[in-house]
Amino acid sequence: MNSLVVWDDALLGYDMGDHPLNPVRLRLTMALADAYSLLDRDGVTVAPPTAAASDAELGLVHREDYIAAVKAAPDDPFFRGYGLNTPDNPTFDGMHEASALIAGATLTAARAVWAGEQRRAVNIAGGLHHAMHARAAGFCVYNDPAIAIKDLLERGAERIAYVDIDVHHGDGVQAAFIDDPRVLTISLHESPLSLFPGTGFPDETGVDGTAVNVALPTGTDDRGWLRAFHAVVPSLVRAFRPQILFTQCGADPHRLDPLANLRLSVDGQRAAYLALRDLAEELCEGRWVATGGGGYALVEAVPRAWTHLIAAITGEPLDPARLIPAEWKDLAAELCPQRMAMPRMTDDADLAYRAWDPDGDPSPLDRAILATRKAVFPLHGLDPFDPRD
Ligand SMILES: [Zn+2]
Repeated sequence: MNSLVVWDDALLGYDMGDHPLNPVRLRLTMALADAYSLLDRDGVTVAPPTAAASDAELGLVHREDYIAAVKAAPDDPFFRGYGLNTPDNPTFDGMHEASALIAGATLTAARAVWAGEQRRAVNIAGGLHHAMHARAAGFCVYNDPAIAIKDLLERGAERIAYVDIDVHHGDGVQAAFIDDPRVLTISLHESPLSLFPGTGFPDETGVDGTAVNVALPTGTDDRGWLRAFHAVVPSLVRAFRPQILFTQCGADPHRLDPLANLRLSVDGQRAAYLALRDLAEELCEGRWVATGGGGYALVEAVPRAWTHLIAAITGEPLDPARLIPAEWKDLAAELCPQRMAMPRMTDDADLAYRAWDPDGDPSPLDRAILATRKAVFPLHGLDPFDPRD
């Protein structure tokens, strides 16, 4: 059971300064995973990116003049254009290098799994899913998931499923493959009516229904989220028969996240990771590439969620009842003195969800689920009204 955790402290260099996307979330995640000895498990390799993504690799997704702008912008305080030097996407020294290194880390993870060297791989620094062809957006400069998926297509992959569970719509990845029937993109996110980036409606279906969007109502909790996931994702992924599963595992659906309005617990997030792993095991001979993504409850949620993710990648799931180690709490208090560490790897949440039923009393959530099913299920030979599909 080989797995790869791509890590290098240089990945902390993607640092936008006084900004919600803080690299401390990565440092605290690696420290927590290490405190539970997840990185020392049998068959686990922790390795740095093979290399930063080259301009040609970045060019699989991004326009040449945009890459040149990313390189030039930090030296010009008056730089305008390409979404850069804005409150969401401030420039910083080494921006191109740090962004290209994250893309290189996701390439390293994806290639290792595709080549059969590793069964699963994760890059928690990756998942910068809002970056567009020629524009930075939503804290994202280079779209590492899209670059890695394009690279696998160049290497001969014919069917890739991308599932994005960040609280925000995976708009940049969807845009990169909206016309490509070889890539199924599925994004579950808070409704675009209430949250950035304002896209991700069910009627954005792409060619042959290979773009799928589940727009969840504000306040959706674990049970609602899991009901929606299981009503939409497994059926479509099974029908698509991917060779490899790629997931963006943003931790911002957590109920303590300050930028969004879903109500998941770390227990629900853990269940989501294990459901994704089950799909890779069932359909892709285990091949699973995962990235991080958003996540702004830097101490309270992200390190616990992604430590559960690293456990799912590297072997046995971590017992939610585990106490948070004292030495990790000390580190968190030192790095983030304003924030409070949680006592355990659980939020004591009840995950018992009821399965989606088209004949039930429709809640806003059930209407959202049905809207997605009606938009895409027929295009995959599935019945939107049959709960067995
Ligand atoms: Zn997000």
